[in-house]
Amino acid sequence: MSGSSSGQRQSITVLVPCYNEQEALPRLFDRMDTLIQGSFDIRYTLMFVDDGSRDNTRQLIRDFASTHRYVEYLFLSRNFGKEKAMFAGIDNVDTDGLVIIDADLQDPPELIPQMAELWRNGYDDVYARRRSRAGESWLKRATSRWYYALLQKVSGIEIQKDTGDFRLLDRKCVDALKRITESERNSKALFSWIGFRKIEFLYDRDPRVAGTTKWNYLKLVHLAVDGITSFTTAPLKMATMVGALVSLVAVFYAIEIFVKTVTTGIDVPGYASMMVVILLLGGVQLLSLGIIGEYLGRIFMQTKNRPNYLVQERHGRIDSMGNIDS
Ligand code: UDP
Ligand code: MG
Repeated sequence: MSGSSSGQRQSITVLVPCYNEQEALPRLFDRMDTLIQGSFDIRYTLMFVDDGSRDNTRQLIRDFASTHRYVEYLFLSRNFGKEKAMFAGIDNVDTDGLVIIDADLQDPPELIPQMAELWRNGYDDVYARRRSRAGESWLKRATSRWYYALLQKVSGIEIQKDTGDFRLLDRKCVDALKRITESERNSKALFSWIGFRKIEFLYDRDPRVAGTTKWNYLKLVHLAVDGITSFTTAPLKMATMVGALVSLVAVFYAIEIFVKTVTTGIDVPGYASMMVVILLLGGVQLLSLGIIGEYLGRIFMQTKNRPNYLVQERHGRIDSMGNIDS
């Protein structure tokens, strides 16, 4: 395939996961077209992965592809979530580099040439770090900060802060990501996990140009739990430790009660303390069961060995390069 020989840094695929983005796409087309037509030293491919949109997104992409030769697309058979959509794209990249960008233009495409500059200077993973997060609530910022601090602590790998999926990955990184076949792939942690020469690139993240965010807190919590359970078994150890601690305290308390009963007789009052202990223990037990369940669930999903996504329609040079889809 063209442009895939290592060492050359000439061709870039810009991967855009889309889910109900009909409002934002026309503007994205405009800006990408300006960038791509104006570029002399880099050959761009614009790859859309439609993640089961129900609006006019697919037709917009088809129309755009029919008049622009640099466009490729994959339409997934339903909504699989941004993570899966991204990996569907990654599995089909055959250029020297890959840029992942959101359809809502929160990440300015005009920055790609500057990122490519760093890439050509030898960096393998040029990740864009937000200088500001315009248009995002205080709560979203705070929770994401806490989450990354926690993830970094429990996983023991360095997680880049204030970094999304907007980044330029060299072919090496793309090939590494393709080799990871676990079913619940959490992109942010994996980008850190693969390693290679990384460099950060500061930018101002714009508010979404049109449409509404596809995230809700439930999805984010799911992603967060996923990130942690796929990288560490620390919660299991924590459950063990809490269990051991509670048991230890219980043993001492039992001894105290026994001694008291023998020396001063049966002490009937104590309803309040009893309730507290029962409720606390019940809570700890349920929590621990839940944690075990999370891991068991992951094992279950993995053993079913289902494909991570299914492709319904495709267009462009991308053919099945050993994929499990289509
Ligand atoms: N997205 C997707 N599948 C989904 C949800 C979102 O492909 O199930 C895409 C969406 O079209 C956008 C990107 O992921 O290009 C980021 O989504 P969004 O802007 O809604 O998230 P936010 O920027 O608010 O975190
Ligand atoms: Mg967005």
